[in-house]
Amino acid sequence: MKAITNTTIVKTDHMVPDGIIVVENDTIVAMGQSKAVNIPADAEIFDAKGLYAGPGLIDIHTHAGGDYWFHEHPKPAAELHLQHGTTSLLPALYFNLDATEYIDSIRKLRSFSKEDPAGRIIKGLYMEGPYLNPKFGADQENNKWKGPLEPAVYSKLIDEAGSFAKVWCVAPEREHIIEFIEDVKKKIPGIVFSVAHSEASPQQIEACIPFGLHLATHHTNATGNLDKYPECRGVCVDETVNYHDDIYAELICDSMGIHVDPFMLRLVLKIKGKTKIILISDACSFYGPTPPGYDGVTDINFDFDGQIAGSKLTLDVACKNMMKHTGSSLSDVFRFASHNPAQLLGMEDYGELAVGKHADIVLVDEHMHVGSVMLDGNMIKHNT
Ligand SMILES: [Zn+2]
Repeated sequence: MKAITNTTIVKTDHMVPDGIIVVENDTIVAMGQSKAVNIPADAEIFDAKGLYAGPGLIDIHTHAGGDYWFHEHPKPAAELHLQHGTTSLLPALYFNLDATEYIDSIRKLRSFSKEDPAGRIIKGLYMEGPYLNPKFGADQENNKWKGPLEPAVYSKLIDEAGSFAKVWCVAPEREHIIEFIEDVKKKIPGIVFSVAHSEASPQQIEACIPFGLHLATHHTNATGNLDKYPECRGVCVDETVNYHDDIYAELICDSMGIHVDPFMLRLVLKIKGKTKIILISDACSFYGPTPPGYDGVTDINFDFDGQIAGSKLTLDVACKNMMKHTGSSLSDVFRFASHNPAQLLGMEDYGELAVGKHADIVLVDEHMHVGSVMLDGNMIKHNT
């Protein structure tokens, strides 16, 4: 048994001050204000020294950790995210990998997730390769999936990934995309589709919703604008995502509000509400030089053409940025970075601190600086 004492427990809609959390194996078995919770005599005590306790962060979309791509060096990438409070994540495989590299990466990440202690944080894959619109996104020259959709090629990928794939990104305007979606769905019934790197019309996106399109990849980034006339604003991906209540919006929230302008963050939060925002890192490791005008930026990644190509974020920093740009509370950002992604992925035991839930717990200060991290009931970092 373990007990975290002297903490304020962060719930989705309130806080529990002077709290205690008791953990047995990998499960929370008791929780609440200190006067109402008995600490078992044999429990190992972790004094939180007043830090806040929230559910472990869940990053559904990250390609890298620090200097390391997940598909190349999953261990240091995973360890970096874990140190920053992310206890569940989906490594994202990008469109610069061809079919063979994709399959190799799936195999490597699957065995890492089963065999390495740090691999326990990997809960599946985020497929950001076939089939997007090559007009949108960094590194478009190297999009290996520009050509026509070929069942003979993509079916191997679907078979290899199976239910390890949790999110599959699509540009709904690609020719024959519905056939592709049906083929994915046949093999992976629980898959979530996400509109990504796209200039689809509302109607093209709506055609995918019945198959499980419930997510928008880095909302407002790498999306088109179908202006029909110079005088009239067209409607495209961003508007459709904002309109549909059952589509979650991923947001990359960097410190300067470059990926998503702070005003846009506030607008999206107002439209989508607290239950449909998901913070992601979209961390990449291209390490191109910082172009003019971006001096001092620490949490954006550039490619070698000087284009913005993902971030250098971890979710703790994204949460801190979100509080700054939108005035969101600590409860809110734990929703955006843990509860909501758990809901999207159907991870019922995650994303919330409550009796019976999984004991992935982070201790943070009021600015989301991570002190301690508990993974599967084991305190793997304790620094209060
Ligand atoms: Zn990405």
